[in-house]
Amino acid sequence: MTAKRAVVTGGAGFLGSHLCDALLGEGWNVVVVDNLLTGRRTNLAHLKSDSRFELVERDICEPFDVGRFDYIFHFASPASPVDYMIHGLATLKVGSLGTFHALDLARKYGAKYLVSSTSECYGDPLEHPQTETYWGNVNPIGPRSVYDESKRFTEAVTMAYHRYHQVDTRIVRIFNTYGPRMQINDGRVVPNFMKQALCGEELTVYGNGLQTRSFCYVSDEVDGFLRLAKSDEHLPVNIGNPNEFTMLECAQMVLKVTGSKSQIRYEPLPQDDPKQRRPDITKAQQLLGWEPKVDLETGLRKSLEYFQQAVAAEAAVK
Ligand code: UDP
Repeated sequence: MTAKRAVVTGGAGFLGSHLCDALLGEGWNVVVVDNLLTGRRTNLAHLKSDSRFELVERDICEPFDVGRFDYIFHFASPASPVDYMIHGLATLKVGSLGTFHALDLARKYGAKYLVSSTSECYGDPLEHPQTETYWGNVNPIGPRSVYDESKRFTEAVTMAYHRYHQVDTRIVRIFNTYGPRMQINDGRVVPNFMKQALCGEELTVYGNGLQTRSFCYVSDEVDGFLRLAKSDEHLPVNIGNPNEFTMLECAQMVLKVTGSKSQIRYEPLPQDDPKQRRPDITKAQQLLGWEPKVDLETGLRKSLEYFQQAVAAEAAVK
């Protein structure tokens, strides 16, 4: 039997590259399509000599075709607040044009489709924890809107292709995820704190540090993607860890895991920064039999060596 072929847009990114590893592990042939705007070749370097793997460097905002395939995992998008605010227009384009192109290709080949969406669809939520039925509280014209509205539009086009063209679609709403291969300078809280702690610098806590997030280790997250990919659920499913921490608690955990003596420095809270975020994962539990296994302390310990190496590599080029 010939192996099935999967396309992963954004496969050179943090989550996309881990997804590629998991798909190869399940016997798929994998083609990554990535313009390397925020993705990195180094995330895929270990797959270079694998004949079942291919990297196509291309911007999916232009129509593209990589030949027949069975499944497309549409993961292309800047995703950290720093990245998507620098690349605001590219973020809006990949969520709209890029999503149309990914869906057109799935339709052409009769392939299955799974798209990465985000907890940002809930904005600064007025319901807590967030269930998939909550419509969100998003500022459509604020600085984060380039990402939030791009992803909400992504969900809308995906559901439209499902309804009008019967494309076999799935939507995963991803909550904060961390682990090896995160860029240490992408501005997210875990890489920022890890780098600062390892360099003996102050940890930058924004606002009063009482805002909350719920952090999922990458292997748990990818396990959720694969389970959803095999299901027939077309409506969005939250995949994230429901254990909620304030940013001050997160900072303390990073200090504990790194053994760092760094102090905390308070900095202004970015505009529209959500005050609290925690997924309700009842749907994923019931539908997919999925729940995360790795707690924050364990996940940070698993990530420590990667961050140590990334910090050392950056110091070496300076
Ligand atoms: N944050 C922080 N210090 C940092 C970076 C982020 O206190 O150095 C806060 C940020 O204000 C937010 C939370 O950490 O409340 C998570 O931010 P991140 O950029 O990781 O992702 P978000 O969940 O906002 O998309």
